[in-house]
Amino acid sequence: MARLRDNRTRILVTGGAGFIGSHLIDRLLKRGNEVLCVDNLFTGSKRNIDHLTTHPRFEFMRHDVTSPLYVEVDEIYNLACPASPVHYQHDPVQTTKTSVYGAINILGLAKRLKCKVFQASTSEVYGDPAIHPQPETYWGNVNPIGPRSCYNEAKRCAETLFFDYHRQHGLEIKVARIFNTFGPRMHPADGRVVSNFIVQALRGDPITIFGDGSQTRSFCYVDDVVDGLIRLMDTGPDVIGPFNIGNPQEFSITGLAGMITRMIGSESKIAYRDLPQDDPRRRQPDISLARSLIEWEPTVSLETGLHKTIDYFRDRLLDVAPRMR
Ligand code: NAD
Ligand code: UDP
Repeated sequence: MARLRDNRTRILVTGGAGFIGSHLIDRLLKRGNEVLCVDNLFTGSKRNIDHLTTHPRFEFMRHDVTSPLYVEVDEIYNLACPASPVHYQHDPVQTTKTSVYGAINILGLAKRLKCKVFQASTSEVYGDPAIHPQPETYWGNVNPIGPRSCYNEAKRCAETLFFDYHRQHGLEIKVARIFNTFGPRMHPADGRVVSNFIVQALRGDPITIFGDGSQTRSFCYVDDVVDGLIRLMDTGPDVIGPFNIGNPQEFSITGLAGMITRMIGSESKIAYRDLPQDDPRRRQPDISLARSLIEWEPTVSLETGLHKTIDYFRDRLLDVAPRMR
């Protein structure tokens, strides 16, 4: 579609009141874009975008992406979907609808507008991976009927839809498979490991390690992830992905618990809990493709990112955060 009168790119970010989406919007506004944030506030919060409400180039629309959306924009980032296992398993049918109907509605919008569209996919498309680290060519090892399937399979279906709209309708798509991301504005009670451990350590509560803690994850600081998404979006039409966006440094959950308690100087004890069903054993992105084609790699170490995240939780959450599982 035609650019706005002043030639400023107007960008739709679905899920923009969430953790990653709100950081993405900050960056887009900083570089001069207009941003329309669409969110139903299921897991996101107005608090994440409070600082933007008077910004002249920012607009918020409360809307559920499972319903069609009629707006005029030049580019779309589709991030709307709960990301933490606790939240996406709360209403699994709605989670599948959000990813699948959401993708159909957003792709339909992009088709009408003839604009490029980005999909926030996930390392969960690899399931409990049988090869390590995971390159984009790996098709995954996913349980279609387990408690994580509403998220994993629906995100896989969304990728299928994106690639079919690309092949069938010539739509310009960009797909990133995001690995575990952390940073300020994570919800304190969303049950993810970094936020759980930090809040528990700050309160002196037991650190809940699920299973024996030998399972691994690779944690990427949110600024690096946002940088990867924008770099991908800014590529030409031939670069579509999927691209792994994550930090290849791999840590065990026990190692992460030790690091966080040391950094906080916490005396929290470890409390072992049952490992959730289908919890992946290992996770590490192979980011060769992102390095070569979009010249992206993470720059923030786990320790530096944790310092910023701990400061965030220390500042604002301890008095109000509800207790977690
Ligand atoms: P988040 O839960 O903080 O943000 C998701 C946002 O989507 C929230 O603001 C929520 O209210 C909104 N939303 C949910 N359902 C919606 C619907 N039906 N209609 C409109 N809005 C809806 O999660 P996040 O960590 O910021 O994740 C953002 C995206 O990145 C998600 O698509 C997620 O799958 C993907 N991702 C995140 C991670 C991670 O580690 N955080 C990893 C892989 C992929
Ligand atoms: N985990 C844990 N204690 C917690 C929360 C999570 O040991 O309080 C584990 C969880 O079982 C998984 C890893 O940490 O092995 C990462 O969990 P998270 O929910 O953050 O992300 P995902 O499993 O989706 O990668």
